[in-house]
Amino acid sequence: MPLSSPEFESRRRLLRNLALAASVGGLAATRLRAAEELPLLSVDDPAAKAVKYVEDAKKVKEAQGNTCANCSLYNGKDGSVQGPCQIIKGKAVKAAGWCNAWAPQM
Ligand code: SF4
Repeated sequence: MPLSSPEFESRRRLLRNLALAASVGGLAATRLRAAEELPLLSVDDPAAKAVKYVEDAKKVKEAQGNTCANCSLYNGKDGSVQGPCQIIKGKAVKAAGWCNAWAPQM
């Protein structure tokens, strides 16, 4: 098959797209792993104090039974013990936690 043939060009494009797809998939997996491995937010962290974050929502009357796990800003997997929160950058929050920025899921 000549290098300038349409078939060769088509195969070359296909291989390039497959390589790109593999690269994007790998990046997404790396990001997901990184999110799962975030250090846990300490209640003494200024970001935690700013929103009155607690690790156990049951200990706070204001939580009214809500937790990070059912907050729309929680990005942890279903059933996870901890995970990322959209307003707490670079740290994970406990699924059983709560803060005064809690927002209902739509
Ligand atoms: Fe938890 Fe939601 Fe507060 Fe984040 S915004 S700490 S997920 S209650």
